[in-house]
Amino acid sequence: MCSTAALGRATRFLKLTMTVTSDQPRRILLRLQNVDKTFQMGEVKVEALRDVSLEVFAGEFLVMVGPSGSGKTTILNLVGGLDSVTSGRVWFEDREITAFSAAELTRYRRDTVGFVFQFYNLVPNLTALENVMVSTELSREPMDVIEALRLVDMNDRKDHFPSQLSGGEQQRVAIARAMAKNPTLLLCDEPTGALDFATGKRVLRILVDLKQQLGRTVILITHNAAIAQVADRVVRLRSGQIVELHDNPQPLPPEDVVW
Ligand code: ADP
Ligand code: MG
Repeated sequence: MCSTAALGRATRFLKLTMTVTSDQPRRILLRLQNVDKTFQMGEVKVEALRDVSLEVFAGEFLVMVGPSGSGKTTILNLVGGLDSVTSGRVWFEDREITAFSAAELTRYRRDTVGFVFQFYNLVPNLTALENVMVSTELSREPMDVIEALRLVDMNDRKDHFPSQLSGGEQQRVAIARAMAKNPTLLLCDEPTGALDFATGKRVLRILVDLKQQLGRTVILITHNAAIAQVADRVVRLRSGQIVELHDNPQPLPPEDVVW
């Protein structure tokens, strides 16, 4: 028999051991190779991404920073299977996303990727609980809906409609909706962009916990350079190109970030 306390001790020991022995090679979850993305708007050609190559490691918290228009959302959309490259290739594990059929792309988006957007995108006439349920009904191995709401501490507000929730609360429901699908990869597009400082930090804390406690891979894009301090690695974008990539050996707890 194993008591809860013993289980807790074992988990803590395991975590410690894992930290001590964590200099093994990092497993690549995502790989972009020489990716170009061009948008054609009538006569005008916009080169949103130019020759972007990048590896994303399993279980890391990667922050991509760059000014507005630098190509952040475009990368996220390509990686999430929402848009297709102009040239270049993208892999998820050993599968090439850029070679997927439409049906494979749908399955990938549904089962593997969770999205969190700046303006939450909740369905206004569904309650918090129902917004999360919609996503579980479409996915293969969903999390329990209440469990997902509990992750973001919104289970006591489950019967409220989005209009009855603050921005921060709506974003927490949106994170629960993304997580309820049990995705390997969580893609967050300016998730704190519409929130005040304190609320933004609370949302960041939830995302960091999803990485640390549930081992999810998180890619967060932002124009706010201060947020990069919580990342394991930081990618800096400018005019559709990666201009800097660095490790953050000691990520700051979200509570310590100031902007
Ligand atoms: P960011 O997220 O860093 O602000 P985006 O990836 O949204 O930047 O955009 C990069 C560039 O591509 C911008 O110049 C933007 O106007 C252009 N762009 C993005 N999406 C489209 C689209 N669907 N059609 C035309 N141009 C687009
Ligand atoms: Mg954007």
